[in-house]
Amino acid sequence: MLYNAAIGGMCVIPGRRWRAYLDTIPYSGYPRRFRRRTPDSPRREVHVSRFLRSIVTLVAGFAMLAVLSPAPQASANMVRTLRYDASRAAEFRGVIDQAAQIWNSSVRNVRLVAGTPADFIVYADNGWPRAQPTSLGRGYVWIGRQATSQGHNPLRISTHEIGHILGMPDRRTGRCTDLMSGASAGTSCTNPNPSAAERAEVDRYFAGWLAPKVQFNQLHVDQSLETVK
Ligand SMILES: [Zn+2]
Repeated sequence: MLYNAAIGGMCVIPGRRWRAYLDTIPYSGYPRRFRRRTPDSPRREVHVSRFLRSIVTLVAGFAMLAVLSPAPQASANMVRTLRYDASRAAEFRGVIDQAAQIWNSSVRNVRLVAGTPADFIVYADNGWPRAQPTSLGRGYVWIGRQATSQGHNPLRISTHEIGHILGMPDRRTGRCTDLMSGASAGTSCTNPNPSAAERAEVDRYFAGWLAPKVQFNQLHVDQSLETVK
């Protein structure tokens, strides 16, 4: 590759210098059309001018750059687009769209768009909010009215449940700054944003640098602590 690029580059250099360069290469190393008819020795040492050397270095350098530089679109290609279907989420449909936008502005390696066929489907029902991720980025979410009727914030519930689809488990820390603390932060907590640590975690899952910590094919039910008795 480098050799071909160097030879290709040399073709633009005319005359004596070009010939001098060729004479430094063993005859057996020439492409057939560059071989001289009557070589008097297999390896003739001929002075190569400084100019010629710098040209060869430049051409080889550019060839090396072309080989080693990653394509500029490489990072963009890492972004995975997930389609969600919120058409069965009744009164929570708009909130799900807002939750998707929050995730889109929070992480780099995932992009959520409404559409079908869906990677995950969102329902509304009268139970507790819950999620069943089936693989990273895929599964089912229920926005349960049992939690919203107790005063839990619908947008926080929605970003939390999508957090399960994006690979995160429940962590009932009671901290409102954590999204995956869920209902353990109480009804006064309305924070719908993932923390910096949670954002980085999701980006690592989708970059393939970290195995998702949520248990797939299990129902993760977000029931308020005060009613668990
Ligand atoms: Zn949860």
